[in-house]
Amino acid sequence: RVVVGTKVDQNHVNWVTAYNMLTGIRFTVSRTNAKIDRALTDADFEAKHKFSFDITGNELTPSAKYDFKFKDYAPWVFRHLRAKFKLDPADYLMSLTSKYILSELGSPGKSGSFFYFSRDYKYIIKTIHHAEHKFLRKILKEYYCHVENNPNTLLSQFYGLHRVKIPYGRKVHFVVMNNLFPPHRDIHQTFDLKGSTIGRDFKEEDLEKNPRATLKDLNWLRRNLHLEFGPEKKRQFIEQMEKDVHLLQKLKIMDYSMLVGIHDLRKGNQENIRDKTLQVFQPGGADTNEDTPEVRGILMRTPSKLETARKARELRQIIKQEKPIPMGQSSERMPDHMEENTLKREFTFYSDDGGFRATHEDNSPADEIFFLSIIDCLTHYGTVKKLEHFWKGLSHDKKLISPVAAEPYGDRFIRFIEGITKSPEEAAKEAVQEASI
Ligand code: ATP
Ligand code: CA
Ligand code: CA
Repeated sequence: RVVVGTKVDQNHVNWVTAYNMLTGIRFTVSRTNAKIDRALTDADFEAKHKFSFDITGNELTPSAKYDFKFKDYAPWVFRHLRAKFKLDPADYLMSLTSKYILSELGSPGKSGSFFYFSRDYKYIIKTIHHAEHKFLRKILKEYYCHVENNPNTLLSQFYGLHRVKIPYGRKVHFVVMNNLFPPHRDIHQTFDLKGSTIGRDFKEEDLEKNPRATLKDLNWLRRNLHLEFGPEKKRQFIEQMEKDVHLLQKLKIMDYSMLVGIHDLRKGNQENIRDKTLQVFQPGGADTNEDTPEVRGILMRTPSKLETARKARELRQIIKQEKPIPMGQSSERMPDHMEENTLKREFTFYSDDGGFRATHEDNSPADEIFFLSIIDCLTHYGTVKKLEHFWKGLSHDKKLISPVAAEPYGDRFIRFIEGITKSPEEAAKEAVQEASI
């Protein structure tokens, strides 16, 4: 992760879309959070609200740089979800919409979805297909109840569902999610595991060009890696993973994966992202921007806790008064967000510096921190059938594409993940046994 994405500035092809996304989020999230909290009703799950933005503004929406329409889905449900995931409302808004900077990862998967990181790398915006969008709305209630009953769920955390459309343009649906990988730690290796071997190989020779690439099942097996948890943590992890997968099976979801990030404590933080982010703003750096020298000066230093607290307080006041947040003002400062949200530590799998630390057979801590989440879980078997490329890419797996396929997919997934979860001692013992056969 030496360079994480391309900065989306005014010259970027997706600048207008990114700007509109953030403006819409800023307006709708502060609008909902300004209201007094209340219990959810069934209607909240179906709710959708449409807003028109233009250059002049009107009694409902503030003025914006461009003309566009924005749709906000189930705002109360997502407000409650964000609270369940212990996000601070002001912090959420500030991370996403301060200074209008995102970095685009482009489209890493086959699906054509685009990924954007918030400026502080805490959040990810993923554009999704219309079918995935419709499906998320359909299962929202079940997802919500699952999160309620399983605060430690490993499933992707969804924080918002929206749509933007520019005049004569296409409708772009997107979700806001957590970035599993913490901004303040190097992730030394990343894997996307499905429990299948067909087509699940990242070409080892391409690793040279792209040393931080996301590797797959066969690369994992080739390296003889394990999710190194002693008995106690293994039990916690497997129990939760099974509950999560059972929900996905029930909802007939497939094609999801376990995203695994490994931070090696012996290597530490040589490529700390904080420095890299700041480099972007250095005068004369490769990635120049149009900030004034004064602004750049401010950007290059990290604000004190006090400044951050003040900023958060201001934002909270704005939210309370339901005033639109002044555009481009409350923002010329590098937020001190490189540190994690400390409330996240209350969640089992985020409790060790944002992840779940490896343990030995006697449950004492080992040398890695694992970052684990079940991602890409909006593919209903019906969607699979419609996605042509999927047929081509996975022709061997065609038999898996049927309404009952979510069952074997999930069973295979559980079997695989369970099989690779063992303490370092257990793994070593097995290696010796295998060698002696
Ligand atoms: P496809 O359908 O072709 O598999 P996709 O476009 O649906 O791809 P995902 O599978 O959701 O994309 O994600 C692609 C990659 O993006 C992942 O392998 C991972 O490297 C990264 N990624 C996705 N979600 C997250 C997340 N929450 N945190 C960090 N990285 C993520
Ligand atoms: Ca995927
Ligand atoms: Ca996908």
